[in-house]
Amino acid sequence: MLSGHRAGVARGLLAPVLVALAVTVVIPQALAQESASAPHGIANPDVHRVLVIPVNLRGRAPVIVDRKQIAQALFGATASVASRYRALSYGALQFAGSQGDVTAPVTLGEPADICNAGLRALAGEAKAALTQRGIAYGAYRHFVFVVPADIPCWWIGVGDIYSDDVWVKATTAKALQHELGHNLGMNHALRWQGGQADAGDFMGSGPAGLNAPHVVVMGWLDNHPGKVVDLTQAADVTLETLEAPPEISALPKVAIVHPAGGNTYYLSYRAATPDDKLPDEFTRGLNVHIFNDFRYSGNGWTYFVAGLSDGAVYRDGPMVIKQLSHVAGRSVTFHIGFDGAGQAMPAGPPPAQAETLQSRASEKCVDLPGGQTRDGTPAIQYDCHGGPNQQWRIDYAAPTTGTRIVSRLSGKCLGIDSGSGSPVVQSRCTDSPNQLWMREVVIDGSILRNVASGLCLDVPGASRANGAKLIAWTCNGGINQTWRYQWPRMPPNAD
Ligand SMILES: [Zn+2]
Repeated sequence: MLSGHRAGVARGLLAPVLVALAVTVVIPQALAQESASAPHGIANPDVHRVLVIPVNLRGRAPVIVDRKQIAQALFGATASVASRYRALSYGALQFAGSQGDVTAPVTLGEPADICNAGLRALAGEAKAALTQRGIAYGAYRHFVFVVPADIPCWWIGVGDIYSDDVWVKATTAKALQHELGHNLGMNHALRWQGGQADAGDFMGSGPAGLNAPHVVVMGWLDNHPGKVVDLTQAADVTLETLEAPPEISALPKVAIVHPAGGNTYYLSYRAATPDDKLPDEFTRGLNVHIFNDFRYSGNGWTYFVAGLSDGAVYRDGPMVIKQLSHVAGRSVTFHIGFDGAGQAMPAGPPPAQAETLQSRASEKCVDLPGGQTRDGTPAIQYDCHGGPNQQWRIDYAAPTTGTRIVSRLSGKCLGIDSGSGSPVVQSRCTDSPNQLWMREVVIDGSILRNVASGLCLDVPGASRANGAKLIAWTCNGGINQTWRYQWPRMPPNAD
């Protein structure tokens, strides 16, 4: 059944998907104490070489190339991309390389639409420049283009899902492991509620680990029989931690359940490590994830639904899971049955829909009331439903000038007409500064600063009311000025 997840996926049939990381958290390197010893019993690890290509853009400050730092972040004995993937894959995946895999910088002209489609043009030109220099890059599995930090893109890094290119402004292990994870076929790890990131997975907001759906779908347990089990009947089940070496016990690590209703559940248990001090909700009991998709699909987001504790119950339709006990850092035991009474599942609202712009204060979405398309319609907040009047395309108007916020319903742009406290309204897009916004990434979201006025998109008084009109207000970094944008599943040029 598990091999079925991966069989039949033809490489090359699926278009690469660009996905970006907008996390600014810095990981203290001193915390990392992973073992650098040889992996357990893997005779033929999958070795991935990485070529790092600094790309200077004419007219911008040169990229600072610190070969030693880059080599440490990618290949160092601890706290590196290589050390983390080696641990997560139980030795099956090896990133290999050295300072010699960082090329001298390539200098190019800045392509149009640098933040999106221009990235591919840039990659092609950079590779052509390497060929001219006589550098053979055929042996490499991944290409990391280090781009100037001042290009006007909201992301820190972007990675192709399934293809082999990565673009980063920062060469931290955190940025690189996330973007290379996209190359390996993983998409983002979210929470079911609110569109927040899964803190137990670095495809979410975690520092060093991956969740059970990702470990399973990457195939890293395929060579360890009995570590992934399907549950179809009532049983008491004990799982060891995902982090434990798979050969030290006969316990499974991941249980997969398909209750009636269409969701596929992945049940697992996690142990904190020096490199990843997981939040309590991951280590006190059963981790419940939903993952309905598979690798390379480009839309296979994983969802953390719940972290149970002893005695806690989780239900979905006929499925009833009750956690019986746990031994911190070692194992969790639960009972599963299939005679539940069909409660609504899972608890809470569904995940945020693509292209919604959601307030961190109210968790409501930017909305055009009643689907009105006329000029001057004020934007409101409303319960997120992902309908066309809540879908917004974030467009880069031109380098350095900010982004448009364009309604999918009306094709019009959000802007302001006057000063502080004025409503935010839609009107025909003109690229005038009152319709352009600088998107500045902060922890857990971003602020949207109007280019003309310097004012920020704001939920007045942090209202939680449906229908509250949005305004522009002096930027203060408040949670009622913090927004989450759920990126579309495909890049703007491909959808
Ligand atoms: Zn990403």
